[in-house]
Amino acid sequence: MADNSQKTDEPSLDKEKTKDDSDKESKGVSQAPLTIFYHWCKSCNICIAFCPQKVFEPDRDGKPIIAHPDSCTQCAFCWLHCPDLAIVSNEK
Ligand code: SF4
Ligand code: SF4
Repeated sequence: MADNSQKTDEPSLDKEKTKDDSDKESKGVSQAPLTIFYHWCKSCNICIAFCPQKVFEPDRDGKPIIAHPDSCTQCAFCWLHCPDLAIVSNEK
């Protein structure tokens, strides 16, 4: 009895993650409202420094993490100024 209930819980969590991430892992990391293509990003810091809503925070390598996705106003500054075209809107 106890064995069956343990087995059904864990895989259902894994499946949800895999479904969302399978496409994106090879191309970039997607979090609404933007997708960042990390293999194009050269950690120039422009998006992190100049986003008017402070949506980004740097990771250990200086690449932007979408730390505050709900604050993004889709102002377009980041994807228009990224020198490597590494940011794409998911909403426009
Ligand atoms: S679209 Fe504007 S508000 Fe949203 S992350 Fe980019 S610079 Fe920040
Ligand atoms: S502006 Fe582009 S290249 Fe520069 S840190 Fe942001 S995503 Fe990376």
